[in-house]
Amino acid sequence: MVNVTRRIYLDNNATTPVLPDVLEAMRPYFDEHFGNASSIHHHGQETRAAIENARDSVALLLGCRAAEIVFTSGGTESDNLAIAGLASPGDHIITSTIEHHAVLHACKHLEDSGCEVTHVPVDGRCLVDPDDVRRALRPNTKLISIMMANNETGVLQPVEEIGRIAAEAEVFFHTDAVQAAGKVAIDVKQIGCDALSISGHKMHAPQGVGALHVRNGTRLQPLFYGGRHERSRRAGTENVPGIVALGKAAELAMQGFERDEHKKMSALRDRLQQGILAQVEEAGVNGDGAPRVPNTSNIFFDHVEGESMVIALDLKGLAVSTGAACSSGAIEPSHVLTAMALRSARARASIRFSLGKQNTAEDIEIALALVPETIARLRELSPDYEKKVAISN
Ligand code: PLP
Repeated sequence: MVNVTRRIYLDNNATTPVLPDVLEAMRPYFDEHFGNASSIHHHGQETRAAIENARDSVALLLGCRAAEIVFTSGGTESDNLAIAGLASPGDHIITSTIEHHAVLHACKHLEDSGCEVTHVPVDGRCLVDPDDVRRALRPNTKLISIMMANNETGVLQPVEEIGRIAAEAEVFFHTDAVQAAGKVAIDVKQIGCDALSISGHKMHAPQGVGALHVRNGTRLQPLFYGGRHERSRRAGTENVPGIVALGKAAELAMQGFERDEHKKMSALRDRLQQGILAQVEEAGVNGDGAPRVPNTSNIFFDHVEGESMVIALDLKGLAVSTGAACSSGAIEPSHVLTAMALRSARARASIRFSLGKQNTAEDIEIALALVPETIARLRELSPDYEKKVAISN
């Protein structure tokens, strides 16, 4: 094991640390306030009140009514509940090629069960064209599911325009806002969506809790059958500590917007991005030219393998990630970068830097010292790079 003096975590789109105030808020709900929120005695009423408090905070974050919030186990469940809950066999669904697998695989499952699914493409900046969504509409279209922010590039989709298209066509609109919540302001009315997913662990609450906004009056088929929890939209005894934590994280996110913390974060991200690009040649930003969440920068470094970069940087104490998924021993390039028409080698040469509320200017300076030297060393070892240098000489 290499002795690393300081570890810097820039993989906050994978998960974020629970903030101290969030941990503090949830802690009493493990022991002191342990009641089942369905119980009518004191213990149950105490946790019921805490859940409803958290519901108010999450509703405030999303600009909706508390009754429109359904607590779930996370982003994956929220996406599945929205998609399977709103579409049935025979319906047509429109989604995009860059969705998270929680959406893509939920749609695939419905396709196998008799739905039709259209995947609209993105351009080189990772943007869906709303006109493509409009053109994909069919008489049996029931649902459009297009994400708000992409997890790999951070690119923000034109959800308001898509919401208008959905409203005109009288079809449901779901948006996966897992990577947007807490990073950009969300107003479900402005977006015009019928359902919107968020996940606790992407916004400094713990893993295993999330929420789905479901517009008032929308009939949703539940995924689980059981008690009448969450107004019969999600059966199962509530994860009270998780829900309390999500409520607190939503409150902190709102306070962060009031203090312009997102602007400070984008300044740090830009410093990192510009600092890297100034020092490393044959590198660039995936999704450049498109609006992005303030914390994400996905950068390609030609002639290096993303996996090697992640491992080499980790050995020096810097945690980042690649969109490439290892399946059956082969490194598959990311479906998002491939959908943006990046050639395979460039998609595999890309890594994602994603900041969280805990990151400091010092973290960025350390990352800026580590990344260029690591790329330079890996390129020295790259036969591909050697060839290129030899040709240019
Ligand atoms: N949607 C997006 C865009 C995500 O980035 C993720 C997680 O990476 C999910 C859904 C799934 O969320 P969870 O991990 O809470 O199930």
